[in-house]
Amino acid sequence: MKEQLKALRGTKDLLPKEARLWTILEEKARAVLNSFAYSEIRTPIIEESTLFVKSLGQGTDIVEKQMFTFLDRGERSITLRPESTASVVRAYLENSLENEMGFAKLFYMGPMFRAERPQAGRMRQFHQIGVEAIGSYSPYLDAEVIALLAALLDSFNIINYGIKLNTLGCVKDKEAFANGLRQAIGPRIKDLCEDCKVRYEKNILRVLDCKVDACRNEIKKIFKGTEEYLCADCLTHFETVKKALEGLKINYKVEPYLVRGLDYYTRTTFEVVHAKLGAQDAIGAGGRYDNLVADLGGPAKGACGFAIGMERAIMAIQDIPELDGGLSLYIATMGEEAYELGLSLVMALRGQGISAEADFEGKSLKAQMRTADKLGAKYVAIIGEDEIKNHSITLRNMGTKEQSVIPERNFVTEMERILIK
Ligand SMILES: [Zn+2]
Ligand SMILES: [Zn+2]
Repeated sequence: MKEQLKALRGTKDLLPKEARLWTILEEKARAVLNSFAYSEIRTPIIEESTLFVKSLGQGTDIVEKQMFTFLDRGERSITLRPESTASVVRAYLENSLENEMGFAKLFYMGPMFRAERPQAGRMRQFHQIGVEAIGSYSPYLDAEVIALLAALLDSFNIINYGIKLNTLGCVKDKEAFANGLRQAIGPRIKDLCEDCKVRYEKNILRVLDCKVDACRNEIKKIFKGTEEYLCADCLTHFETVKKALEGLKINYKVEPYLVRGLDYYTRTTFEVVHAKLGAQDAIGAGGRYDNLVADLGGPAKGACGFAIGMERAIMAIQDIPELDGGLSLYIATMGEEAYELGLSLVMALRGQGISAEADFEGKSLKAQMRTADKLGAKYVAIIGEDEIKNHSITLRNMGTKEQSVIPERNFVTEMERILIK
């Protein structure tokens, strides 16, 4: 027997039923994004590895442990994108979108890749819908971006999610914050977990989001929140974001321990969580990154964005609707002559934008009816010997089970009348 090949660990086939749900969610997302005046951008899946190392930061988990990086045939180091912010900023700069669009609101949808231990809602190829608004320092943008995230989740029919909000301050504040943390933790470092000992050296802010109880208790004793490290401008910014969110009737909770693990974040950071997701409870997250554009060689530009994890979002949807194939009409035929007529009608209907299907396996009438059912056909047209003789077609409404007889010559116009309202 030949060996059965399988999808790689941490990757997954989206079968038709699931793919239909994804399409619906993507369409909903597009409508919402469009209403917030975002335009789509599609960047390559692969980028130079340097882009991610530079933007995400050397000491981050993604760069250190999770990137799919390989040498191409020209010995260049290439990485499958682990996230999209860096790619979008790279594209914004490379294509001079600054001149073309000025302030740019961009969204993307697509696969990202991280070599993590696969578990529920965490795949090695996972999918994100995200936005990047580049070219503004306004705190009202932060509030609007968070409102957009909420609007997207609402459109997906996700309820009871929580928005956690925090601020990291500007680069200077972040430094003061890191130093303060280092001094406070120093004498207690032996009481923290092994991971935190590494974080202490490499990425100290990450100590704050350690999930180990012992670490959490220690941190609680020595750390009261980022606010004490903020400069006046960053404090005002944060106050304005909160006030603007209240004005937009967006519920949030200030979470002083929320730090995003990536180097590029500054000022506002946020995360959306949902109880249905368990320990890995974030559906989406984002924040401001006011230095990334300049760090990647561009001018100084404030920017803010987020990404929603599609797999996670789907886990949190309240009621996933039963989705059929959306087939309008199935033509069931008996005999060669009927089949030929059926096929020509199917083609005529498709020409009018009506989804229609016929049998390709030489099935019995009964089996054809079963197929129609499986395909979720709203109507079945039956063409047998009698119908051929009378130049008529029997139409069955699969919902009501009502049957009617339609003259063959009127069939296409009649179906258009019934199906295209
Ligand atoms: Zn500041
Ligand atoms: Zn720890």
